[in-house]
Amino acid sequence: MKVVLQNLTKKFPNRDKKIKGEVIAVNDFTFEIPDGKLIGLLGPSGCGKSTTLNLISGLQKPTSGQIFFGDDDVTNLPPENRGVGLVFQNYALYPHLTVRKNITFPLENLKGKDKLTKEEMNQKALEAAKLVQIDELMERKPSELSGGQQQRVAIARALVKMPRVLLLDEPLSNLDARLRLQTREEIRRIQKETQITTIFVTHDQEEAMSISDMIVVMKDGVMHQMGKPQEVYDNPINLFVATFLGTPPINVFDGYVKNSTLYIGEEAVLAVEGVKDQDVYVGVRPEGFILDENGPFSCDLSRVEIMGRDISVVSTHALSHNPTVRSIISAENHINVGSEKVRFALKPYKTLIFNKETEERIYFEAD
Ligand code: ADP
Ligand code: MG
Repeated sequence: MKVVLQNLTKKFPNRDKKIKGEVIAVNDFTFEIPDGKLIGLLGPSGCGKSTTLNLISGLQKPTSGQIFFGDDDVTNLPPENRGVGLVFQNYALYPHLTVRKNITFPLENLKGKDKLTKEEMNQKALEAAKLVQIDELMERKPSELSGGQQQRVAIARALVKMPRVLLLDEPLSNLDARLRLQTREEIRRIQKETQITTIFVTHDQEEAMSISDMIVVMKDGVMHQMGKPQEVYDNPINLFVATFLGTPPINVFDGYVKNSTLYIGEEAVLAVEGVKDQDVYVGVRPEGFILDENGPFSCDLSRVEIMGRDISVVSTHALSHNPTVRSIISAENHINVGSEKVRFALKPYKTLIFNKETEERIYFEAD
């Protein structure tokens, strides 16, 4: 099911008397989620992710704008008639019910021609439980399950009605690191198997990048960029998107352009044909450094971390925004750990420059 958001806006009255005006949690969202895809909705805490999901599910009404599922305008449809499955961070299972009863719960209240017999309900619950691999735990209570198993029950419950759209709001946040990894792969597998259009909300860029067909990056209620994870990583449209994606994060320096040459301090680090003279922010991805003793860019070497396949060179630079400059180079390189300075050349397509006022990307021909 294709999902279309059209100029979707949600404002809340401001409860803080000191601040004037209202909170715009979602500001004029327009985008289309293709049928059968998994979309990662990504942004820092408070940027409006949950509000966006609540609008799509119908738990909240938009201030303005419309929501379509396929060609159906669902903007004024109550949540129970939209055919959405919801999963939250805190599982929200019924503690006194068994796993089976928790999963059949959404089926109990079906009316008229949709009404199911007990056998049909149990059959559907078993199918959903198999999908998330908890079919051997059907008679247990939530308190007898691990966090990961509880979250699987919540996912099975969301799937049991075969929703048109599956909405997951930070579903992995309460799990430990290993389970988080495992469960996110499970979610990806289930989504591929069922082909249900899925929106996965997270503040964790790595999580979103790893499982999404497309990511939507938002901040302060505004959508900044939408695209395939690799495309957005390689081609962020502004400094916020560039710094939000990537671990270790992109290295940002104060710089300037003069005579089609990019400078960081006194050092002419790169040719940037076609860019007019101005102050800029320079972003260099950790993998954008080439170790080169005659390279144009020098940093003060702090230490070298061996990571097997790669070496992480940790250094500092007076014009760096980050406390340390992190570069990742192949372990085949030899680096003299005793020296005070380390010199690099920069890869043009891993070096991004941004306007100092607007923080928008400035494009140049990389040769
Ligand atoms: P996220 O899920 O990305 O952390 P939310 O969608 O929960 O963000 O919130 C977005 C903004 O809207 C925040 O500034 C939050 O304080 C505000 N907000 C959310 N719900 C309400 C509400 N019911 N009343 C007032 N403000 C709200
Ligand atoms: Mg939230």
